[in-house]
Amino acid sequence: MIPDLQLVIQLQSLDQRISHTQQEVSALPKNLARTEKALDARVRKLEADRAALTANQKERKKIEGDIQAQETKISKLKTQMLEAKTNEQYRAFQGEIDFCEKEIHKAEDRTLELMTESEPLSRNVKQAEGALAEERKHVEAEKQRVRASTEVNQKQLDDLKKQRRAMVERLNPKVFSTYERLRKRRRGPAVAEAVEDRCSACNMTMRPQFYQDLKKGDQVLTCECCHCIVYYNPPVVAEENNAPVPQAGDDAQPAKI
Ligand SMILES: [Zn+2]
Repeated sequence: MIPDLQLVIQLQSLDQRISHTQQEVSALPKNLARTEKALDARVRKLEADRAALTANQKERKKIEGDIQAQETKISKLKTQMLEAKTNEQYRAFQGEIDFCEKEIHKAEDRTLELMTESEPLSRNVKQAEGALAEERKHVEAEKQRVRASTEVNQKQLDDLKKQRRAMVERLNPKVFSTYERLRKRRRGPAVAEAVEDRCSACNMTMRPQFYQDLKKGDQVLTCECCHCIVYYNPPVVAEENNAPVPQAGDDAQPAKI
């Protein structure tokens, strides 16, 4: 197999590694952001529960005060009632006392409601406080991990890009430009193996003559159907190949039918 073909196969595998590493580099912060967002949501829920609990306790305190005030009022009214001179006055005092007692009943009912509401709130707050402390630790550890992994990946990426530049320098410019055009345009691979007598990218059967030419491995051929660079099942070796670089004009020309 001519060196250009070997190089372009290696270039594609290198590009796959570069793309995979780039995906990892960009995925890590996204995953971390998701974790942090989930933590934020839980913190906000805890704050809302805390605020509701505080409001609940405040209202209960106010009601306690109201009940006390009503009780004081009742005891005063009872004293005044003893001094009532007429039945009318007596009934008027009694009416006021009844009203105060009703107010006390209402306040007591509301206190019960508030107590019922506060139970799950304080349970949630207690649970969330414990869980959040753990979760914060976890997020911090995750941040450290992402930072370290990103650094490693970034170094790896720089190294892969350096390898790529060296490889491109060795590759026939015409083959490289064909490869680049295919790589940017196509969704599938730019370089594909011929499996049996089919192109593994588009799965079309090759013409017998074309397949014979391809098997020789002495030029860079492109699939007559999908136009990707095709090669005949070579063992991919990373050996130093000293074979002469083929003439630029022979490369990357789509084979004619
Ligand atoms: Zn094809």
